[in-house]
Amino acid sequence: MSRIAIIGAGISGLSAAKSLMDSHSVTIYEKSETAGGIAKSQHADGCVFHVCGANSMKSLHDATRSFISSLIDIDEEIVEITRNSAILFENGEVSKPEFHGMFRKKMTEIEGVPSPIENHIYMFKPEIQRQIISDIFHVKAKERNRRAPKFLATYLKSKFGQTLYDMYFGPYNEKVWHSDLKKIPLRWLEGRLSAPTADEILLANFNHTNYKPGAAKTFLYDTKGGAQRLIDRLVETLGDRLVCNHAVQTIERKGDVWTVDGSEYDKVVYCANLKLLPKILKTDLIEPFTGYIESLKYHGTTSVFCELAKNPYTEIYLPGKEHRAHKIICTGNFTPENNNDRHKMTGTVEFTDYISEDEIKGELSRMPLNPTYITHRYIECTHPIQDIDTRETVSNIKAALLPSGFYLTGLIAEWEQYNVNQAINAAIKTVETMHNS
Ligand SMILES: Cc1cc2nc3c(=O)[nH]c(=O)nc-3n(C[C@H](O)[C@H](O)[C@H](O)COP(=O)(O)OP(=O)(O)OC[C@H]3O[C@@H](n4cnc5c(N)ncnc54)[C@H](O)[C@@H]3O)c2cc1C
Repeated sequence: MSRIAIIGAGISGLSAAKSLMDSHSVTIYEKSETAGGIAKSQHADGCVFHVCGANSMKSLHDATRSFISSLIDIDEEIVEITRNSAILFENGEVSKPEFHGMFRKKMTEIEGVPSPIENHIYMFKPEIQRQIISDIFHVKAKERNRRAPKFLATYLKSKFGQTLYDMYFGPYNEKVWHSDLKKIPLRWLEGRLSAPTADEILLANFNHTNYKPGAAKTFLYDTKGGAQRLIDRLVETLGDRLVCNHAVQTIERKGDVWTVDGSEYDKVVYCANLKLLPKILKTDLIEPFTGYIESLKYHGTTSVFCELAKNPYTEIYLPGKEHRAHKIICTGNFTPENNNDRHKMTGTVEFTDYISEDEIKGELSRMPLNPTYITHRYIECTHPIQDIDTRETVSNIKAALLPSGFYLTGLIAEWEQYNVNQAINAAIKTVETMHNS
């Protein structure tokens, strides 16, 4: 039985701890008052507020499903919700309002085009339709002989053409990532991007198909605050192995053991921020990577919890420069349990990076669905930004640390854009690696 320290009790650390606790002596350190990291939800004015994102899940890996079902009755406690998302255009781009989803913005009506946008070219004004159709033929002509694009901007333009890129894909993604899309490596977002062919786009428009070929029409959502029930059950299972309010400061190699703030362990699983590792980890092994880790960029998220006007949507994307926010997640439509009698419809308005309460309130006053502020939360590191060398360098860091029993897993530890499903799966794989090494 090894003594194992886990740093960080987000979904990744909690999952690793649960997977290790039966055969090892585990201690999990968490700097905050409560576990759960960015997957937490809490009650605000009696309604459910997701502090970051919504923790809806598209699909589950087999290993993740089996892990979750050891704690949660998936059939009873998780519901399948039909996605109904829309993209908001406010400058007259859409042709026939009576045909489309309608939003009320104070006294003005503005239109939303259902997502995926490329299936709904027929909703735009004729002159925009003509530009997009010409782009799609251009895309088709190049489809066979094109070299695989390496960066996000090139990929999006090559798949959807310049007009849809300028109207939606470019501005929306720039708002989310606050980064130059020409430098975001495509493989970082692998599996998250749709890849329709030009023919599929045209067919979807002829047939008014709402969904991407092969893409999920529904998502899974736990009716008790998204991932919060899973977090609560993990915390309960871990008992006093979980130590909250402890921000780990120093991890040292002393002979054959690691010390974590003075306590000895045989192995360490690091699920906290990679950027902090050179400061916390006192070993020569990390030194070759210190300069690169310092150069890594990231962004945060300000999630603003609001009462919203009743609407039929699960999420609304805001590509326009009119708003600093990029998305409204209508969590109140996920399950009635997320609302109460006072706030009959709630949701989160999402901004990348910090925005002050005064600025938030100014932004809300100009937004659709008449959002009324309830509370907000800013989390500093939610979007690790990869460059073309990140995957390989993180893999080299892991390889350098693994022989001495130090492992990295999780969104901010591996500098990945994991969802909950992927974070749990990665933690399970890390535990398998530990058992095999
Ligand atoms: C905007 C946004 C929306 C999202 N929406 C979805 C969604 O709809 N569906 C989905 O499946 N996934 C979603 N995700 C992804 C999902 O939330 C993450 O994959 C998952 O929560 C990552 O968990 P983690 O444990 O790897 O990281 P984190 O949750 O960041 O956990 C790291 C933990 O380490 C702790 N820590 C840091 N430093 C120390 C220290 N020195 N000592 C001790 N503890 C420390 C932190 O307090 C934190 O609790 C979203 C993410 C974002 C950013």
